Amino acid sequence: MGPAGTPDPLAFIGDELADLRERHLYRPLRVMSSAQGPVAVMDGREVISLSSNDYLGLSNHPRMKRAAIEAVERYGAGSGAVRTIAGTMTLHETLEAELAAFKHTEAVLTFQSGFTANTGVIPTITGDADLIVSDELNHASIIDGMRLSKAPRKVFKHADPESLRAVLAEAVTAGRDGHDQPYRLILVVTDGVFSMDGDIAPLPAIVEAAEAFGAAVMVDDAHASGVLGKDGRGSVSHFGLEGRVAIQVGTLSKAVGVLGGYVAGSQNLRDILVQRARPFLFSTSHPPAVAAACSEAIKIMVDEPWLIERLWANTRRFKAELTRLGFNTGRSETPITPVMLGDSETTIRFSSRLFEEGVFGTSVIFPTVALDRARIRTIVTAAHTDDHLDRALAAFDCVGRELGVIAG
Ligand code: PMP
Repeated sequence: MGPAGTPDPLAFIGDELADLRERHLYRPLRVMSSAQGPVAVMDGREVISLSSNDYLGLSNHPRMKRAAIEAVERYGAGSGAVRTIAGTMTLHETLEAELAAFKHTEAVLTFQSGFTANTGVIPTITGDADLIVSDELNHASIIDGMRLSKAPRKVFKHADPESLRAVLAEAVTAGRDGHDQPYRLILVVTDGVFSMDGDIAPLPAIVEAAEAFGAAVMVDDAHASGVLGKDGRGSVSHFGLEGRVAIQVGTLSKAVGVLGGYVAGSQNLRDILVQRARPFLFSTSHPPAVAAACSEAIKIMVDEPWLIERLWANTRRFKAELTRLGFNTGRSETPITPVMLGDSETTIRFSSRLFEEGVFGTSVIFPTVALDRARIRTIVTAAHTDDHLDRALAAFDCVGRELGVIAG
């Protein structure tokens, strides 16, 4: 009931929640009372964590903490304004110059998150004279960016350059809907690494297809930043495609260990984003500690190459052992290793049994993935030791047998 006995206008929310619970699709939050790391205290229990995106273990790295503390001492806790008013600090501009040098692009603009980088850049550079062509499994923030654009959009089959070619051929032949004119811009957008399955986009073939039809390519490298390419420069570096991808979006929230996103490309691209990108114009800039720690992370990635080597060594071992135990790890080629379990009820049960065994592996269920493709999504990081991996694998083996997922 609402005030004074009136019916509650928000009562439908309770019904929706009850429905989610009944269908095993309701996910309570687990609460962490330690720093992020390979071992974390979740809901009061110390567990081996396989669920962060802290690929290189930088979120709690001593150099990162020192950089953040020094920035707070010198510049305070907050920036106090949006970038275009009074919130652009030397720390922001320095970080952008360092990122541009790191990515080998003319310029970089940072955003508050990878999510806002996508929702900022896509509607800024596309309008009703343009066409966006998107992989069907692109991240939610790309989808929201497209929704905020006036450009029409078409979807190509996941990681399928032939499907992309067919969409581009049709679009170029037909021209703009209702106009006897070509599109001003055709923007092909793909994730570099797909965050739920861990597969890498076939970027060389995507770039070739785009070039054949005069289209520009945008890659969202959230899960490739710090993971793929020389010193973690991303998928464009990994495939040797520097100079052929017009827009690279990266995140500072995963391997970089802090928070934020960025758009790397030409100086003109940066300049127009500063004038028009709405999250940049209407939301406050990063606090000094965030910008300073991100700068430090870029230096660490170059100075400490063994972190990426360790990340990949751990990844190879973990995947191989899971497969040997009989688990299906899908089509992953990166540290994102999904353990495919099928229905959401088994998956939620699996995750809570793992937790009881001292291992935190989050369940990913509908609507994040299709109803019958529920999974435990794991990421081992550079900070996991052999002992952590042994204990995690023992827990998977035990729970897998108990729930009949692998032969007992
Ligand atoms: N793009 C992709 C492909 C992602 O996986 C994510 C994070 N889940 C984002 C963008 C958003 O990044 P951030 O967490 O920095 O907002």
